[in-house]
Amino acid sequence: ATPMAVMVGTGLGARNGILFKNASALEDATRLDIVVFDKTGTLTMGEPQVVEVVVVAGSTEEAVLALAGTVEQGSDHPLAQAIQSKAEGLQLDPLTGFTNIEGKGARTEIGSKTVLLGNRRLMDEEKVDMASLKDEAARLQSAGQTVVHVAQDGKLVGLIAIADAPRPTATAMVKKMRERGVEVAMLTGDNQATAERIARELGIEMVIADVLPGQKADKIKELQAQGKKVGMVGDGVNDAPALTQAEVGFAIGAGTDVAIESADVVLMKSDPYDVLGAIELSRATLRKMH
Ligand code: ADP
Ligand code: MG
Repeated sequence: ATPMAVMVGTGLGARNGILFKNASALEDATRLDIVVFDKTGTLTMGEPQVVEVVVVAGSTEEAVLALAGTVEQGSDHPLAQAIQSKAEGLQLDPLTGFTNIEGKGARTEIGSKTVLLGNRRLMDEEKVDMASLKDEAARLQSAGQTVVHVAQDGKLVGLIAIADAPRPTATAMVKKMRERGVEVAMLTGDNQATAERIARELGIEMVIADVLPGQKADKIKELQAQGKKVGMVGDGVNDAPALTQAEVGFAIGAGTDVAIESADVVLMKSDPYDVLGAIELSRATLRKMH
């Protein structure tokens, strides 16, 4: 690459909020076959809101929210924040012990009660019977909502449905990527049904869901093993290894420091559409070098 063309390219990017941290990223971006997007906080706003609470017979919405709100005092997960703000004003017990269960949920003791909360996988592992609210959970997930299951002493007491709106430019970005010959995939720790619904809304066909935080980089490796040059876009701590593994890692500017440090390109406007801008800029720069 001629240093001059690269300088002009990176300068133009920077003025448009697309920060290339190294010259090789500008070249690598021309060759991407597929770009993998994290869901929460990348394709979506990352501002989840509680939209519905469903409870088992004998319990109440407030009781379930108070239990969950108490547990989530110990967590800084975006879902925890949504639950805490919904539980605001309710009587919460002080947290005595808290265990974060990475990519699955959390557990705590409240007095003599044990409260477990999180995704379906966690409930399965802990042998919590979910039969009573199975249909409700399926309904919420197929509407694109993330379901947080709440169990007390091993028994399911309710479901908290959480929605996170897609970023407004995501659909247009997916369409343009395809026109440019670049495949788009979604990679998420969230469940398959929720992920698929949101992907369908955005026009994304390839969905890799139910991925534990430690496995995101492996999913990138699997695509690379198929001979693909892979871009990865993410915002979270759990995206960092995948951003490093990808040929080009793109971080959402509003994301965590770890993601920004691990990326080759930082999207300062936190707009996934700018991945397209980065690719177009890199292609234009490379053309000038020949
Ligand atoms: P993502 O890839 O969407 O950032 P994570 O890997 O952080 O997701 O979490 C995966 C799933 O684990 C979440 O969708 C949620 O169901 C569950 N989970 C993790 N932490 C929590 C928590 N503190 N409260 C509720 N659910 C949680
Ligand atoms: Mg994320």
